[in-house]
Amino acid sequence: MAAGAAKGGAAGGGGSDRSAGRIAEENRATRVLIVEDSPLHSRLARALLVNQPGEFFDFTWVQRLDEAIANVRETPYDVVLLDLNLADSVGLDTLTYFHAAAPELPIVVMTGQDDGQLGVRALRLGAQDFCVKGLRDGRTLARAIRYAIERNRTVQLLQVARERERYLATHDRLTQLPNRSLLLDRAAHALEVATRNGGGLAILFLDVDHFKNLNDSLGHATGDGILKLVGHTLRSCIRASDTSARVGGDEFAILLEGLEDGLDATRVAREISSRLSRPRVVNGRDVSVTASIGIAVFPRDGITAEALLQNADAAMYHLKQRGRDGYAFFSDEIDAQAKRHLELEGDLRTAVDRGQLVAHFQPQVDVTRNAIVGAEALARWNHSTLGWIGPDEFVPLAERRGLIIPLGEHILRLACEATRQWPSRLRVAVNVAARQLSHGNFVETVARVLQATELPYERLELEITERSLMADRKNGVAALRALREQGVRVAIDDFGTGYSCLGALKELPVDVIKIDQSFVKSLLSDRRDAAIVETMLKLARDLDLDIVAEGVETPAQRDHLLDLGCHQMQGYLFGRPLHAAAFRRRFAGDRTARAAGPAASRLDRDRSR
Ligand code: C2E
Ligand code: CA
Ligand code: CA
Repeated sequence: MAAGAAKGGAAGGGGSDRSAGRIAEENRATRVLIVEDSPLHSRLARALLVNQPGEFFDFTWVQRLDEAIANVRETPYDVVLLDLNLADSVGLDTLTYFHAAAPELPIVVMTGQDDGQLGVRALRLGAQDFCVKGLRDGRTLARAIRYAIERNRTVQLLQVARERERYLATHDRLTQLPNRSLLLDRAAHALEVATRNGGGLAILFLDVDHFKNLNDSLGHATGDGILKLVGHTLRSCIRASDTSARVGGDEFAILLEGLEDGLDATRVAREISSRLSRPRVVNGRDVSVTASIGIAVFPRDGITAEALLQNADAAMYHLKQRGRDGYAFFSDEIDAQAKRHLELEGDLRTAVDRGQLVAHFQPQVDVTRNAIVGAEALARWNHSTLGWIGPDEFVPLAERRGLIIPLGEHILRLACEATRQWPSRLRVAVNVAARQLSHGNFVETVARVLQATELPYERLELEITERSLMADRKNGVAALRALREQGVRVAIDDFGTGYSCLGALKELPVDVIKIDQSFVKSLLSDRRDAAIVETMLKLARDLDLDIVAEGVETPAQRDHLLDLGCHQMQGYLFGRPLHAAAFRRRFAGDRTARAAGPAASRLDRDRSR
């Protein structure tokens, strides 16, 4: 074609006149590229459009596909009028090639007189509209152009919206990191590659230590700042080909690919720990963050993305239980424990309904009067295949899986039912978890259970650890205050092991403090602990609080505590926890209750559980 890339004039063939003619005051002219090998048809199209009232066009005319493609790369057009039969390309291929070269440009295909079918197929291949060549109606052509541009704009906007949606569905808004689903996706892909080509792969699971405390004490803005800081740190510790993700509130995960061995993962974990712990200013506050990191390595610790993530999580959880900060690999021991927990977790949901969760009762005695004053209810799980399971194992599971509220209510009910059968001067102490206390309905739950079991408020004592009370101090204190006004007694459990807020004790609604077993254990050997116990006892007397020493196992401990002025005790020396019927027979039958005093000090180890 001799005409080459001629600029099309309004009427002339080829040449370089820009016949947009009138320039709109506000709207600039619509830039139209005409791809048409016939000078006649090109001229005709321009002639039809130029005379449209209120529309302004700026034409460029080319005759070949390769010229058209070269042209759109240089110049921004608003629309293309595309003839499909050119010297260098024929039929729908012309459209396909052109659309691939300029996917964002709206195209109006020019077809022959009776090519309706072709037009429809052109729409499917990405054209916005089609017009019959040789048309004598300028308005129709102008409208086709306008609609093509509008339709194309809508499609582009939709595409942007869809991309944004895809981003939001796969990323965390706060840290801008990939989320769990994108991480798993990438891990699955990486696993395919690693399986095919060899090469190591590991998933790290990171949990910020004490994040809840940081968040509560420093405020949510600073908490968010800390999470962003962690995200930023993770990104800076890995290569661009690795993935860091936020997979939960304060939980992050990292996918490391192309590892030589487990040592590489260790190096990354160390680097993260060391960078995180550098003191930093976040939101105007000095913070330094530590984290616990669990590591699972392919294929030793799992061959699917989910298994690796879960096992890295288990390794992290295990590390948390033995003091935090640092990193740990998933191991057989952790694996076994995680499997057991998984099984227990599944069973725990139905254990309450099946009556497998029971309360055992351990006597609390007043040693000076040689009398039982009450009992602590301790939860036990009689598992159908695994046997008896202690609360140290299943209470944390219940807390983690949101089952502690029904479980706590169940134990409370059992405890009140049992206590109702005892002589009226005996009361029962029931352990309460933090989650129960901050749950809105706790006060009503207690009231409901007491009413149903016909136990007076005065015979119930609630044991709360300092830690639990501090976890949600505002709601916790309010709930306890309301219950205490009704007559319920409140005990601070494991006193001395938590925040030891001796000062705060004055402001808390408390009747009793329970000296933690660890102090009792070292009372005779550790003078510092002995001094602490003395201080606690003095404090309790000053504040007019009762005090109970826990875990008393030997007569020597009992005598020493008595010397210090502590009268109420609990421990194996006086009795192990017993199931309800055994407890009643032994300590709370009408006859034995009265006789319990003299018997109490002689009640040594009772092994029947
Ligand atoms: P805790 O409240 O400090 O309960 C005392 C624990 O010490 C009990 O362990 C008890 O069996 C044990 N113990 C009692 N006397 C002695 C002694 O002389 N020597 C020694 N070495 N241990 C003694 P258990 O029953 O395994 O309970 C462990 C923890 O589980 C409890 O600690 C309590 O925090 C929690 N727990 C128990 N029942 C419940 C419950 O119904 N709800 C909630 N939320 N937590 C519970
Ligand atoms: Ca307790
Ligand atoms: Ca305790």
